[in-house]
Amino acid sequence: MALRSLEIGIVGCGIAGQAAARFLADAGHVVTLLERFEQPHAVGAGLLLQPTGLSVLRALGIEQDALAAGARIDGLVGENQWGIRVIDLAYGDLHPATFGLGIRRSALFDLLHRRVLVSGVRLVTGVEIVDVEREGARAVALDRKAGRHGPFDLLVVADGSHSALRQRVFPRSRAPLYPWGCMWTTVPDTQAFGAVRLLRQRFAGTSNMMGILPVAPHRVTLFWSLPTAELEADRPLDLEAMRRDALSLWPDAAPIVERAVAAGDFSRATYRHVSLPRWAEGPVLFIGDAAHGTSPQLGQGANLGLLDAHALGRSLAEAGDLAQAMDLFAQRRGPPNRFYGTASHLLTPFFQSHHDLLAIPRDLVLPRACQIAPLRRRLTGVLAGLRRGWRSADSLDADGRYRL
Ligand SMILES: Cc1cc2nc3c(=O)[nH]c(=O)nc-3n(C[C@H](O)[C@H](O)[C@H](O)COP(=O)(O)OP(=O)(O)OC[C@H]3O[C@@H](n4cnc5c(N)ncnc54)[C@H](O)[C@@H]3O)c2cc1C
Repeated sequence: MALRSLEIGIVGCGIAGQAAARFLADAGHVVTLLERFEQPHAVGAGLLLQPTGLSVLRALGIEQDALAAGARIDGLVGENQWGIRVIDLAYGDLHPATFGLGIRRSALFDLLHRRVLVSGVRLVTGVEIVDVEREGARAVALDRKAGRHGPFDLLVVADGSHSALRQRVFPRSRAPLYPWGCMWTTVPDTQAFGAVRLLRQRFAGTSNMMGILPVAPHRVTLFWSLPTAELEADRPLDLEAMRRDALSLWPDAAPIVERAVAAGDFSRATYRHVSLPRWAEGPVLFIGDAAHGTSPQLGQGANLGLLDAHALGRSLAEAGDLAQAMDLFAQRRGPPNRFYGTASHLLTPFFQSHHDLLAIPRDLVLPRACQIAPLRRRLTGVLAGLRRGWRSADSLDADGRYRL
């Protein structure tokens, strides 16, 4: 027997929250979406959607629009300062029809938001939720101005990696800030980076890293790695130092770097490595970065959040009661979320850290691994979001697409 017509509150009108709102409203639940911004909007530049995330967009009916707005990506290439190819992965090794999609966060946000606005979801903006209270078996969300929202049969927390509610609900949760983050922006693709359909990275040691991702026809997102201390909100970004280091690391990208520095329109991003003892506490469920935020080194966060949203809809549809639905959700999402959390955490210091010596094993081992076909396929499977654990993985269907 399926759970029908629950009153569901969702905190956070981001990627995971909006996808969940749409799936749950379509299934007949009464959904209220609570967002701190008066005008919900995307923050940051562009991201890479994996075959996993694209299959969720397909289920939401927005895959074709996303493909039109974004830029097809066929693989990932990373080179060190000497031009040695350290990483070289191609989705085509999994299936000739498989690919990723670079997309501006604002474009993805708009597609999801339009879906939400026509779905019957009640959108409440300008409410910063700071606490949760239990009312019997139900949950009430409390905002900063002492407003009460609910009670809800289920409260889904999707308020991102810097979640205010995580500590309130799980006092023993851990979410340390990484010592490194990045500045990022989107600029015109004056060098035709989009034509080669790759996420490209350059690194020197572990303290200099830059990425260029095509995210739309004739637009690329540029990432520049920085210690978190240099990203503090009240500290001006040292664009001249960035320009100097970026030009020496990647001379071919000079026009893009110059354009980005001249525009000066960088966002700052910091990451947390989030680990929760479990995903749900009674009627409160955590999804997306609030539940399992990581560094973006493996390009998975948005994809994992989209998969969480889909799995939640499916678990509620299959379960006889809420506790069973939460168990089903944990069975579906626990293994891959934990795998990608751990893998990102282990890998990040090899690309972003003060431990420059870690670049030596990185630059020795990864190029060789990328030349051994089974290993290269396995690494590409990690990138494509297919792993469920160290020993198990999902496979693609006959058309090279991820089957939900
Ligand atoms: C530099 C960078 C590059 C990245 N690249 C990739 C990539 O290539 N591929 C990929 O898959 N992922 C990538 N990610 C990760 C991805 O951006 C996140 O995983 C994704 O945005 C998480 O979605 P979410 O819905 O969980 O949280 P968010 O997108 O952060 O949304 C949270 C929402 O909650 C709202 N909110 C926050 N607090 C409250 C509150 N107290 N009350 C009410 N509302 C609140 C926020 O305003 C926001 O709308 C990248 C991240 C960074 C920083």
